[in-house]
Amino acid sequence: MFIIMLGPPGAGKGTQARNISKKLNIPHIASGDILRERVRIADDELSKKIREHMLRGELVPDDIVIKIIHDRLSQNDCEHGAVLDGYPRTLAQAKTLDAFLENKNKRVEIVINLDVPDDEVIKRLTYRRLCPKCNRIYHLLFNPPKNNELCDICNVKLIQRIDDREDIVKKRLEEYRNRTSSLINYYAEKHILYIVNGVNDINRIFNNIIFLIEEAIKPV
Ligand code: AMP
Repeated sequence: MFIIMLGPPGAGKGTQARNISKKLNIPHIASGDILRERVRIADDELSKKIREHMLRGELVPDDIVIKIIHDRLSQNDCEHGAVLDGYPRTLAQAKTLDAFLENKNKRVEIVINLDVPDDEVIKRLTYRRLCPKCNRIYHLLFNPPKNNELCDICNVKLIQRIDDREDIVKKRLEEYRNRTSSLINYYAEKHILYIVNGVNDINRIFNNIIFLIEEAIKPV
């Protein structure tokens, strides 16, 4: 089953997608992680271009993202589905994904839109910190490390993602409103869109999502 997680940056798509992936035993495809990894391992022109867009809080051009994500989706482990987190983010990406899946006699079955207001997104992202060694995520207010900005496990100084700075977060939100939010209508018209309140206890949000997925695949 192919599931798409929609919602603004900081909505909790990654956390929920990871849990769905474990529960349904399908891979978690996070476009932001894949792009960051591409930039980390290859020091070439393409990485430079990707990095520039990411640092400005802008979407990476469609042709680049589509190629990278579709290469990932062509791998064997995606044969029976995947949970997509952060992809698609534009209408062109959504339409190309539909065509890609249709070619394999597959389709997107369910789209979960995690609804979170802008002020909450800003609060969540600007206080977000991560361990550069183990990638564990902290929030300085809601889930702080035990010792002054050091990772509880690695004892390494936590870092802030550059694009989690407030000015860049605002740009990312603008990109979301201008370019990604139109996907809500796109999937609503296909009758596969479900809206979930993203300001809630993480486990409760997860249970709501699993309920919706089970309802959506129930035979009528
Ligand atoms: P994320 O980790 O999902 O917040 O993504 C971080 C950044 O990666 C975004 O601000 C974009 O610059 C880029 N990015 C991730 N996914 C996409 C996508 N589907 N289309 C274009 N750019 C993307």
